[in-house]
Amino acid sequence: MTKVRREYLHGPNPPISLNSTYYKGQRSVYGRETNPTWEYLEDEIGALEGGLCTVFASGMGAIASIVATLSASQHLYLASDAYNGTRRLSEYLARAGRVAMTYVTPEEIREASFLKGAKKGDLFFFESPSNPELNIYDIFEIASACKKSGLMVVIDNTFATPILQNPLSLGVDVVVHSLTKAISGHSDVLGGAVVVRDENLHDDFRLRRSLLGAIPSSQDVFLILRGLKTLELRMGRATENATKAFELFHERMSSSSLHYPFHPDSPEFKVAKAQMKGGGAMLSVVFDGATQADGFIEALKVFHKATSLGGVESLVERRALRDGEENTHPGLVRLSFGIEHWNDLERDLIEALNSIGL
Ligand code: PLP
Repeated sequence: MTKVRREYLHGPNPPISLNSTYYKGQRSVYGRETNPTWEYLEDEIGALEGGLCTVFASGMGAIASIVATLSASQHLYLASDAYNGTRRLSEYLARAGRVAMTYVTPEEIREASFLKGAKKGDLFFFESPSNPELNIYDIFEIASACKKSGLMVVIDNTFATPILQNPLSLGVDVVVHSLTKAISGHSDVLGGAVVVRDENLHDDFRLRRSLLGAIPSSQDVFLILRGLKTLELRMGRATENATKAFELFHERMSSSSLHYPFHPDSPEFKVAKAQMKGGGAMLSVVFDGATQADGFIEALKVFHKATSLGGVESLVERRALRDGEENTHPGLVRLSFGIEHWNDLERDLIEALNSIGL
């Protein structure tokens, strides 16, 4: 925790402001525009990412403040491996004729070839690591290429968190987070954030939040702040667990069936090492098919069988079962590592693998 907003400090924890309106002369005027508890969280996330933060009601609220407010002349270039909610919202708006968009494949991102058709003022939105294949892109290279063509670059940094990766320092214009995941860290609250360096853009995001009404409750923001206090510790332990699990799977399965940012056999390993401080808490494993994957998941006892990620408890799901994931390999199992003792997770994984003959 870095900068502290001392004017709210009555003790180690910030007050939860439950006002929908404020007396004349206060910093806040109306509850949809500002709230002192939000500002406390915004200072912390802004300091961690190195920019100015606006918090939202959810990750999708933050993403909608970008994708749903594009001007008629702006073209959206969206990574084809972006989160399914981002894709589904963009497709919804495109169907309604309100957004002009083009999907960009991993190859087109790496070669920056999509920029040939782009013009100044367009927007490129991507993730690194992506979901669920954990593809890695060279953030600095991509941001530099986009800048030359005059595009605004947005990255969803939910998987890495600001503990492992700071995209603003690599030239990205806008960082988005789902605070529902590792930043809050306890699977008990939803939230989102947008972080930028430019002050005018920051003011604009605050306006968009207010006009869209995508505002978080101050009680939820308090919970996110509480989770944030242990983010670094949790990310450290969860990353250790994921790394050990990667090694365990690697002993029993082919290298190509494993997706992990710090996979030593991956062509992107060097890039990942250069821009991330650790491989992170997410690991995807591709089994032969749905039956084998389901058998593995069913046999697990310690992992919670649920979607989402970033909580203190380890989660497991077969990703193709989610809406918008129809193109995901039917045998892909996504694991989100929590902070349990490794011995418990190890035993669970070994028994589950043994039960399907691996
Ligand atoms: N971005 C990523 C990478 C996600 O995984 C998710 C949710 O799973 C979101 C954004 C959306 O966040 P929220 O569920 O908080 O709206």
